[in-house]
Amino acid sequence: MIYLIAIFSTTNQQNIMPNLANDPNRKSWINVPENSDFPIQNIPYGVFLTKEDVITIGTRIGDCAIDMGALQQLGYFDGIELTDDMFMQDTLNDFISDGKKTWRLVRSRLGDLFDSENPLLRDNAEHREIVIFKMEDIEMQLPVLIGDYTDFYSSKEHATNVGKMFRDPENALLPNWLHIPVGYHGRSSTIVPSGIPVHRPMGQTLPNGETSPVFGPSRLVDFELETAFITTDVNVMGENILISEAEDYIFGMVLLNDWSARDIQKWEYVPLGPFLAKNFASSISPWIVTMDALEPFKTKGPKQEPTPLPYLQQKGKHAFDINLEVYIKPENVEASLVSKSNFKYMYWSMSQQLTHHTSNGCRVNSGDMMGSGTISGPTEDSFGSMLELTWGGKNPITLNDGTERKFINDNDTVIIKGYCQNSSMRIGFGEVSSKLLPPFVRK
Ligand code: CA
Repeated sequence: MIYLIAIFSTTNQQNIMPNLANDPNRKSWINVPENSDFPIQNIPYGVFLTKEDVITIGTRIGDCAIDMGALQQLGYFDGIELTDDMFMQDTLNDFISDGKKTWRLVRSRLGDLFDSENPLLRDNAEHREIVIFKMEDIEMQLPVLIGDYTDFYSSKEHATNVGKMFRDPENALLPNWLHIPVGYHGRSSTIVPSGIPVHRPMGQTLPNGETSPVFGPSRLVDFELETAFITTDVNVMGENILISEAEDYIFGMVLLNDWSARDIQKWEYVPLGPFLAKNFASSISPWIVTMDALEPFKTKGPKQEPTPLPYLQQKGKHAFDINLEVYIKPENVEASLVSKSNFKYMYWSMSQQLTHHTSNGCRVNSGDMMGSGTISGPTEDSFGSMLELTWGGKNPITLNDGTERKFINDNDTVIIKGYCQNSSMRIGFGEVSSKLLPPFVRK
């Protein structure tokens, strides 16, 4: 009985604490360029390295990075229960472990501190000098130590397209797909932040018409347009969580380019699924946008038919209206837009994915990352991979410089952007950008 009361009061506390940092009328004393992804209503979290080689946790407003380690040392988080070195760390894992109540208190404090009406830091030139950096003077790092990485396969359009190409056009969706948020355990060892180039992978493939495989550079390197969510400590081993609680365990989201080698994938994936075709690189955007900041952009997801089993049933709005764009930029040439999609097309919600993930007692920890799966929309220009956009290479895309692409060429940079927009504000992720290098050659 005491246990039940404790649970009730925690949940209640979280619900009644207002989300003040989302006030659309608030302006910052830091200049925010028009159409910036980072107004004062965003307040994402990241980790960066300064010119002086100091690593710190921070946030971003406009084109300024804000050192939260320095803010804490100067007393700007006084009154919030935090360990002394909470923000002077090279990952957000400990902060994320503190839970939703702390995330919200810190985000509220940051909103207050940078409010145009608040003179506290605004009028303290000495402190401003210590705390605020220009984006070009810092280097973004991976925001979390990712313990485990799971990649889902939750876009019905994507699963249908791939099923048509790789298996049977008549039975593109396998019978389990409409009942289970299908996923697989990936590797966290090769998740890198935006800006880190990636080598074309070597691997085993079966050339068309041959019966014996060959080993060499993948010829069909592709991007996958995805988002990912970062969790806090969700459960202990053996216990599951309820669908009604799942969202409280999600800290925030990033953009994800889940690089894929389609020729390696085609040969290796039966019967156990993705392996070396997927784990050579996954690139993420460096700022984690919190679920609190994304709250105003909640929307209804696609109708789920047949109705999921009871442990996956949820009412209300659990999808998010996030505009997504993919660009290919050949070397020394302007970028070309190749896909426009939206996260709201996802069939399975993040809370359904997380609930399903723990339904067998699998433990999920602070800093774990869950990929959405490739996000394809209903139209041909909204597909989330070259595999689908060119239909397996049959219909090449012409870029702005007149060159054609079936898949990604060496020295192409793939850029994914994402943002939410309503009549009063734009909240975005910035971008994840990474260049495909030629295969690594051992000297
Ligand atoms: Ca993927």
